[in-house]
Amino acid sequence: MTLEAEACPCCAAATGRRGFFRAALGVAAGLACTAPSANALAAGGSRRLNVYRVQTAETFSGIYWRDGRYDRPALNRLNWLMRDLNLVEATPMDPRLFDVMYSVASQLDSREFFEVISGYRTEESNDELRRSNSKAARSSLHISGMAADVRLTDRDSLGLARMAADLQQGGVGLYRRDGYVHLDCGHSRRWS
Ligand SMILES: [Zn+2]
Repeated sequence: MTLEAEACPCCAAATGRRGFFRAALGVAAGLACTAPSANALAAGGSRRLNVYRVQTAETFSGIYWRDGRYDRPALNRLNWLMRDLNLVEATPMDPRLFDVMYSVASQLDSREFFEVISGYRTEESNDELRRSNSKAARSSLHISGMAADVRLTDRDSLGLARMAADLQQGGVGLYRRDGYVHLDCGHSRRWS
């Protein structure tokens, strides 16, 4: 798949060009980043993710956090799955992104795979994307390894975005027409 096919105007909220979807979601905009809810991220036990990379059909299904520690081999696998496909370059993803994904799936009681459309982006790839898509953000959190564009096969994009926004663990962008949601572990904010 070409980069253009992955085109995503993510993180444009910071520019103020896109509107918040608080009306659709019934949540307040502009809230400060807060700690995950106790229900979403328990201190003990384990956290599992099911992730499928759309363009490569690679999968990760397993525990990435156990008894208070991230599992390094699992993170390495996830980092590779989330790589920039344009330049075939991986980066250490911010593991809090996986916590966001875990929390959303847990709260939705979904056992399905997150389909990842875009994960890490090099600056070069993001610049290329911006040339083909004026809505793409210059300082996208994809560049920092803190964002992913995803969908869940058993939930619609609005339901996914609504739950993610309610959790207030980071940024949430709803791209309903394209059928995916941008999730990141930056400041809590939302747009559509
Ligand atoms: Zn995005």
